[in-house]
Amino acid sequence: MTPKTENEPNLADIRTQLKKIIGIRLNEWHRDGAIPRDAFTALGRHGLLGLTMTADRPEMEPCPQRARLFETTARLSAGVAIAMLAHTDLGFAGLQFFGSPALREAYGPGAVRGETLLCLGNTEGHAGSDVAAIRMRAHPDADGWRLDGTKAYVTNGNLADYAVITAQTDPEADRNRRLSMFWVGLNQPGITRRKLKKSVWQPSDLTRLTFSNVRVPAGHLMGTRGMGLQQVLTIFTHSRVPISALTLGSATKALDSALERLRRRKVFGRPLADFQAKAFEAADYYARLQAARKIVASACNAVETGDDFRLEASMAKYLAVDIARRIGTWTADLFGAASVMDDHPAHRFPLDAWASSLGEGTQDVQKLIIARQILKAP
Ligand SMILES: Cc1cc2nc3c(=O)[nH]c(=O)nc-3n(C[C@H](O)[C@H](O)[C@H](O)COP(=O)(O)OP(=O)(O)OC[C@H]3O[C@@H](n4cnc5c(N)ncnc54)[C@H](O)[C@@H]3O)c2cc1C
Repeated sequence: MTPKTENEPNLADIRTQLKKIIGIRLNEWHRDGAIPRDAFTALGRHGLLGLTMTADRPEMEPCPQRARLFETTARLSAGVAIAMLAHTDLGFAGLQFFGSPALREAYGPGAVRGETLLCLGNTEGHAGSDVAAIRMRAHPDADGWRLDGTKAYVTNGNLADYAVITAQTDPEADRNRRLSMFWVGLNQPGITRRKLKKSVWQPSDLTRLTFSNVRVPAGHLMGTRGMGLQQVLTIFTHSRVPISALTLGSATKALDSALERLRRRKVFGRPLADFQAKAFEAADYYARLQAARKIVASACNAVETGDDFRLEASMAKYLAVDIARRIGTWTADLFGAASVMDDHPAHRFPLDAWASSLGEGTQDVQKLIIARQILKAP
């Protein structure tokens, strides 16, 4: 039984529109291993990227609306939902929080329409959780900067037009003041894109971006020089809440198919659901999923109040991923041998939940943040 979500009529509307844009073409995207560019423009045209124009100003929609959008999309396809989220809550969030008025004006409206596709490149081969350890360099130039280095895992990196990129501008400084953030055009000389082969969050793309002497104008420095670490962590703290909602979407889809399987699959002459061991597992997972849903909703509300929501955001991500991973594996188990086939729907559930555990901070990183918050002197 799919848990009820607030604002059902609106949700039904979103679902219908998403099905029209995504549903009918999803098989084709899985076959090609890619989401075509025109899908993003179609989503933008229908106001389905979680972005809006308010009095000519491009903005992100409030957290509860984005959470609803990403959860609903993830029930159709976690891979498409993450591509939308990388555009909105990583790339566009960087622009909204730290872009100059000129950058926001130049690139915001196209991003809202889905015509300009965005991503964020932070993780490197040797540094993910430990963001301050990234080595990409931004060398000062006559009228800007030159970027050198490699971003190892960038969602949307294969198709995006612009990226929010972190790099060292001040290598001699304290690790908290070493990094800065840049707005970088990806269609220029010196940038190599290598699409990676992965099995999670299909059909989104994960791409390695290599920068060799890439020119970035001075006006494309975002926020404050030396504050790149704090700025990228701010983006991740915000995006942690919608990715938790996306994760709930994956888990709900998995649970729905598990319940269907329990009702239909007969073993030893009876439906699986008649075996109390399985029925109790279902009850346990349903209750835990509903509890995670409450904490994600509460984190979303905390974002809107403007209070410090770091604790809520990490608890939401930690609990949503925890239950999604349990439900994902359990559901695959219920489908037996069929679930190991690449094209079986249940094959994706554990993989997508696994991917959720990595993006926007691993489970250990969430525990680190929660522990720091609760152990602070009162
Ligand atoms: C599908 C996918 C999409 C992604 N998209 C993007 C993207 O768009 N942009 C981007 O920049 N990155 C992206 N990433 C990268 C992702 O953010 C990183 O994988 C993640 O931050 C973890 O970093 P890491 O892989 O280097 O692991 P590491 O940081 O090396 O962690 C390895 C292990 O050590 C544990 N660990 C780390 N620190 C601690 C600690 N202090 N205490 C205890 N344990 C610890 C971790 O929990 C983990 O189990 C993506 C990754 C995936 C899989």
